[in-house]
Amino acid sequence: MAGRSVVIIGAGQAGSDTAAALRAQGFTGSITLVGDERHPPYQRPPLSKGYLTGATLREDLLLRPETFYPAQDIELLCGDEAVGLDREIRSVTLRSGRELRYDTLVLATGARPRRLPVPGADLPGVLTLRGADDSDTLRARLADGGRTLDLAVVGAGFIGLELAATARKLGHRVTVVEALPRALQRALSPEMSAHLSTEHQRRGVRLLLRREVTELLAGATGEVRALRLNDGELVPADLVVVGIGVLPNVDLAVGAGLAVGDGILVDEHLRTSDPDIHAIGDCARFPSPHAGRPVRLESVQNATDQARTVAAAVCGAGEPYTAVPWFWSEQYELRLQIAGLTAGHDQAVVAGDVEQGRFSVFCFREGRLTGVESLNRAADHGISRRLLAAGTDLTPEQVARPGFDLKHLARQAT
Ligand SMILES: Cc1cc2nc3c(=O)[nH]c(=O)nc-3n(C[C@H](O)[C@H](O)[C@H](O)COP(=O)(O)OP(=O)(O)OC[C@H]3O[C@@H](n4cnc5c(N)ncnc54)[C@H](O)[C@@H]3O)c2cc1C
Repeated sequence: MAGRSVVIIGAGQAGSDTAAALRAQGFTGSITLVGDERHPPYQRPPLSKGYLTGATLREDLLLRPETFYPAQDIELLCGDEAVGLDREIRSVTLRSGRELRYDTLVLATGARPRRLPVPGADLPGVLTLRGADDSDTLRARLADGGRTLDLAVVGAGFIGLELAATARKLGHRVTVVEALPRALQRALSPEMSAHLSTEHQRRGVRLLLRREVTELLAGATGEVRALRLNDGELVPADLVVVGIGVLPNVDLAVGAGLAVGDGILVDEHLRTSDPDIHAIGDCARFPSPHAGRPVRLESVQNATDQARTVAAAVCGAGEPYTAVPWFWSEQYELRLQIAGLTAGHDQAVVAGDVEQGRFSVFCFREGRLTGVESLNRAADHGISRRLLAAGTDLTPEQVARPGFDLKHLARQAT
């Protein structure tokens, strides 16, 4: 391994974790980690939650202390961007003009927010939330001299709803506009999305479903002032945050002729169509044994576990990526955890205390458990992850039985 060089493009969760995992697994060659943001690698989850309220400090965002990289002999290049990739000579060109030769290249370029395709989408006061700089801008606007603002959030996905919860905590008036018939439709069961919608409405969020934004209108200052919806309603807005999903950053891969299709396509070892190049994290579409098809997952766990798999591959262990996916979201005091994949299920069984907001939704496809959504039930989540990893034979009938207790069942099985 000595003398070999690994270049990692994208100094986010997946990129930083790859560099760390390579050293932890004994890689002694050179490691260069390139990030286009000016910050050392940091975590994104607090950006829509505690960081906006001030509960999470800037230094707590960092994934690793800045001293970690030199101490581990990892060259960290922040504020530079990979703009070219020549696979023939195995070289990456940076915007600064520097050229980096590699034996193994890891693309961990993440994703960027989709823009709203309507007139007025580029007005001042229309924001998206992906990086620390976006969160700083939003935080300053939400503080805005203690004024109560009209905040319009476009998109009732995780980022939109987390932001709505944070803004309500800060006392702002919040309207969420969603084109689909229910909140979190692509990510959650109808049971869980109904519960979360009710909780948001109970706390004063105006949730407009099946409504589309057709135009953003400016006020006298030139800043955004309102949203026009498809039924003609005007929603007042001092500030608009667009949270309508992301696009994977694939430009480098496309330019170099790698196979791409809503993400950089990789095999079960996370290798792209070029065996010397891996792609991981939000930018990669991989064959998931849990989904039974190629998927692109946007979660910290996926980025971290894929980083470890690639580091192991570089160090000579050829294990396929089979980790059970999991994800969490925090909205108000509600902690949602998802184990496995629940999209595409054909049967859902609810267990626990829905009234008290402590329950889990067990999602099955053709009688097989594919995922479990747990609200304020951390134990269910932990056990579900283990069951899914082991290939559980839990049936919908078992879950539906009166007195069903997952902890009890797990104890019996061990
Ligand atoms: C506001 C917010 C809240 C979230 N909350 C949760 C949560 O609660 N739970 C959870 O599991 N997940 C959450 N996520 C998702 C999670 O943060 C991502 O899945 C994870 O960061 C993906 O890691 P990544 O390394 O693939 O991408 P990123 O962390 O986005 O890192 C990619 C990096 O590559 C850089 N880059 C791109 N192109 C280039 C280039 N050509 N040259 C150099 N650098 C480049 C990007 O600027 C970026 O810094 C959240 C995400 C956001 C934005």
